[in-house]
Amino acid sequence: MPEYQTHDHDVLVIGAGGAGLRAAIEAAASGVSVGLVCKSLLGKAHTVMAEGGIAAALANVDDRDNWKVHFADTMRGGQYVNNWRMAELHAKEAPDRVRELEAWGAMFDRTKDGRILQRNFGGHRYPRLAHVGDRTGLEMIRTLQDHGIHQGIDVHMECTIVALLKSGNRVAGAFGYERERGRFRLFRAKAVVLATGGVGRAYQITSNSWEYTGDGHTLAYDAGADLMDMEFVQFHPTGMVWPPSVRGILVTEGVRGEGGVLRNSEGRRFMFDDIPDNYRAQTASDEEEGWRYTQGDKAARRPPELLTRDHVSRCIVREIKEGRGSPHGGVFLDISWIKSRLPNAAEHIRKKLPSMYHQFKQLADIDITTEPMEVGPTTHYIMGGVRVDSDTQMSTVPGLFAAGECAAGINGANRLGGNSLSDLLVFGKRAGEHAAKFAKAQQNTEVDASQVDEAARRALLPFERGTTGEGPYQIQYALQDLMQDLVGIVRTEAEMQRALDCLKPLRERANRAGVGGHREYNPGWHAALDLHNLLTVSEAITRSAIERRESRGGHFREDHPGKDPSFATFNIVVRKAPDGRMTLARAPIPPMPDELKRVIEEMQ
Ligand SMILES: Cc1cc2nc3c(=O)[nH]c(=O)nc-3n(C[C@H](O)[C@H](O)[C@H](O)COP(=O)(O)OP(=O)(O)OC[C@H]3O[C@@H](n4cnc5c(N)ncnc54)[C@H](O)[C@@H]3O)c2cc1C
Repeated sequence: MPEYQTHDHDVLVIGAGGAGLRAAIEAAASGVSVGLVCKSLLGKAHTVMAEGGIAAALANVDDRDNWKVHFADTMRGGQYVNNWRMAELHAKEAPDRVRELEAWGAMFDRTKDGRILQRNFGGHRYPRLAHVGDRTGLEMIRTLQDHGIHQGIDVHMECTIVALLKSGNRVAGAFGYERERGRFRLFRAKAVVLATGGVGRAYQITSNSWEYTGDGHTLAYDAGADLMDMEFVQFHPTGMVWPPSVRGILVTEGVRGEGGVLRNSEGRRFMFDDIPDNYRAQTASDEEEGWRYTQGDKAARRPPELLTRDHVSRCIVREIKEGRGSPHGGVFLDISWIKSRLPNAAEHIRKKLPSMYHQFKQLADIDITTEPMEVGPTTHYIMGGVRVDSDTQMSTVPGLFAAGECAAGINGANRLGGNSLSDLLVFGKRAGEHAAKFAKAQQNTEVDASQVDEAARRALLPFERGTTGEGPYQIQYALQDLMQDLVGIVRTEAEMQRALDCLKPLRERANRAGVGGHREYNPGWHAALDLHNLLTVSEAITRSAIERRESRGGHFREDHPGKDPSFATFNIVVRKAPDGRMTLARAPIPPMPDELKRVIEEMQ
């Protein structure tokens, strides 16, 4: 019989990033008791790393912007397999959520007349990203935390949830352990909101932190919820490539938004060589026009460096593969060139991009105000996640909600930069509101003790195997190499089948993984428990990517390089069969209302 401390909440929120905090604030505001659990310290969630900004059609810098343009941009970026209702709600509600953040005390950079300043970003037609230099995520987390802390939310920090608990078919709580002491915790709850972020640690090169091991995706899947769009992984075009110890760390798109350009080893701005037809009308025809756009000339069109991330990543891979890369296997990103246009360029760069300036100075001994950076694609974001109802964010399991990066729908095949932070606010709020409503309608929740015993037994298995079992890190590294090599930016059926064949023995190795010592301060134990999550999301990505025999957004198939219209009519859903196998299904996309179709046509 395992020992554990028990906590009772009406709503339990798992994850204290932007989505989790916003959900917790909303649930608490409606008068229910709220618990918030997170793996790291409060304030350390991944959202804190967000740099470029929050996308919202405030129209402060360009008055032609409005929700319709934002909606059309998001759908075009997602290549029309987005949940159109979520894209509509997001575009309509994001401005109010940003203004609310401002009212709660968030500082933003300002226009000359004192309004929230907005910057250009890839795939957004007008300057749309509300920002604070390149530290927007920090400001967002700080504000939400300050606000949330006064709402009476109970915070359980440094606690990892390893299983969701159910009562009949609905969710009834969660089971986890304190990361420091290893003691177990049982959380009974009438509704649970998953806000656990992404899966980037399944890949070798990633901008994501140690927390991104696909926990929420796997918790939901194991509890019987559907996952959707798992084939759509975003590889951000600009991660650091040198020195090796910092490979993958993000270089914000804000650099390109402020006028940074991409060049190959021959000094050529190669992005002008390949402009997709559906973006041609919106893209600058020469370097001069591109520069004018970054300086706010409303008559100019955006430079091709600000095309969507999937496209820019593939162009960079092409340059590298064809021998025109930089010395350390990337390409050059240059913002220093703006000194030929602006008298105070160095000061301007340090003011607009302070983190980037310090990041390169400290980590690579590069002064970005005088020399170019070397950059290459890095695994950044997953568009796929828990399949949710567009208005309530409830998953296919009653009482289980999901929001933020661990939920699917709004982004379709590719996310536009800045749309994540606004997604967290819009759908975090909705998830909190509806989870509270759901909780209020329930009677007391009973949790069956056998589920708790089973979760505790599984959590302790690595100790039973002890040091005779294989160490978890070797298995994790092997998985990361496999996903990077065989299910990365450019995919083929043969390679992905090979990945699938290799995942099985990796799972067997994970089932034999063991750790020594005891439960206190034992990172090896945490890594051993992460393996199940990493393997589950890797299998879901691989199976879904094999099934989608076309190229769309973040998913590029060398053996099916074109878009196939028949694949535009459904999303791929992953589900656990009663015998434990992973199964796939096709979920038809409901027809878009005529009113929204007209919006898209008008914005072509
Ligand atoms: C470097 C970088 C820059 C970015 N810049 C931008 C940007 O400018 N604009 C933009 O829109 N997007 C940006 N993004 C993307 C964006 O930051 C993320 O998608 C977003 O912050 C995710 O927020 P979230 O609330 O879903 O999850 P997170 O902020 O990652 O929070 C997840 C929470 O879940 C907790 N958790 C996870 N698993 C468990 C578990 N098993 N038990 C308990 N708790 C758990 C974690 O501890 C954490 O508190 C950027 C991403 C990176 C990596």
